[in-house]
Amino acid sequence: MTSMTELSTNQAYIDLEDQVAAHNYSPLPVVVGHAEGIHVTDVEGRTYIDALSGYSALNFGHRHPGLVQAAKDQLDRSTLTSRAFHNDQLGPFCEALARLVGKDMILPMNTGAEAVETALKIARKWAYQVKGVPEGQAEIIVMDGNFHGRTTTIISFSDDPEAHDHYGPYTPGFVAVPYGDLAAVEAAITDNTAAVLVEPIQGEQGVMIPAEGYLPGLRELCTRTNVLMIADEIQSGLGRTGTSLACEYEGVEADMYTLGKALGGGIVPVSAVAADAEVMNVITPGTHGSTFGGNPLAAAVGKAVVDLLATGEHQAHAKELESVFAEELGQLVGQGAERVRVRGLWAGIDIDPELMTGKEACKALAKKGVLAKDTHGSTIRLAPPLTITEDELRQITDALAAVLAEARG
Ligand SMILES: *Cc1c(COP(=O)(O)O)cnc(C)c1O
Repeated sequence: MTSMTELSTNQAYIDLEDQVAAHNYSPLPVVVGHAEGIHVTDVEGRTYIDALSGYSALNFGHRHPGLVQAAKDQLDRSTLTSRAFHNDQLGPFCEALARLVGKDMILPMNTGAEAVETALKIARKWAYQVKGVPEGQAEIIVMDGNFHGRTTTIISFSDDPEAHDHYGPYTPGFVAVPYGDLAAVEAAITDNTAAVLVEPIQGEQGVMIPAEGYLPGLRELCTRTNVLMIADEIQSGLGRTGTSLACEYEGVEADMYTLGKALGGGIVPVSAVAADAEVMNVITPGTHGSTFGGNPLAAAVGKAVVDLLATGEHQAHAKELESVFAEELGQLVGQGAERVRVRGLWAGIDIDPELMTGKEACKALAKKGVLAKDTHGSTIRLAPPLTITEDELRQITDALAAVLAEARG
């Protein structure tokens, strides 16, 4: 076991946080003082590769020069107008994002959870006003193992006891089925079903990639039964998997997308729902909103992010490095890893639980200069910035190989 103090950069910061910041996280003992590109540097000068990228909020690395410039330029023009007035950034941002994801319209929010809440509200309203579901009866099908955020409604349909327990009473209207099971979705659909909410890849669950055909099957099922398919692409979208959206991998087009994380360029929180007009137009003035959603600073940064993705170069880079990532991690199976799952620059690695927990693996990785995050026991997740080079990617996989080799003794 790694000693915390040995790793710790400045115990005073850790102690202070422990006293005055709520204990809703259990961070690795690394105190970041500076960050640039794929690297973060702690307050005592140790540099690490960031192989988590803020859960994909930092897809373009820390302080990407073009994104920082877009933010600085906008800081000198206007930052917040509220939606009571128009601003000159919102339209261009929405136009660019809608084009990137192939939808008519964008509803801007701030955090991912807000985007999911917004999509759920739109789906319910669509069910009542367009589909003709009796008021108050709409059902939304969700997946076991889902992660969609932390609001009261969203955790109502989480099956993770840590996220869910002791926060009731819970919001009704959700039906959970096993992830990857098309027949279960079909059996759960009734005349009152408004939508199916799915992560194209379950990130928090450990980068769980459904079998080929699952997403196209859901699409077909939703079309046939007049149910909205909502793809939560907050973590999987915006280049991470080698395409703009993870759904594209199998040529699937959802009815609604939720986007967030990387949309803010690692600078400001920006989230959005994307949908075609016939769905989005159930939202009318006064029926939904956000003080900060669509503010000019967020829109300027979001537009700069979309412009980076519009060239396709980051997606192509992620796709290109996927084979290196998969090959290097694949060699660890049987050498301390039980399974690995890779799509683009996103990997879930199930470590032999006899060997070490995911948290222990992450601590050992940190000692080797790589920051990663465990999830669910012995699984670790790697999601380096899409700007990483092949050599740097090999530094991550080499570090993990060394950690496992040392643990095996
Ligand atoms: C992170 C995440 C969310 C929630 O985003 P927040 O910005 O933390 O509210 C929702 N869905 C998925 C798939 C996520 O990964």
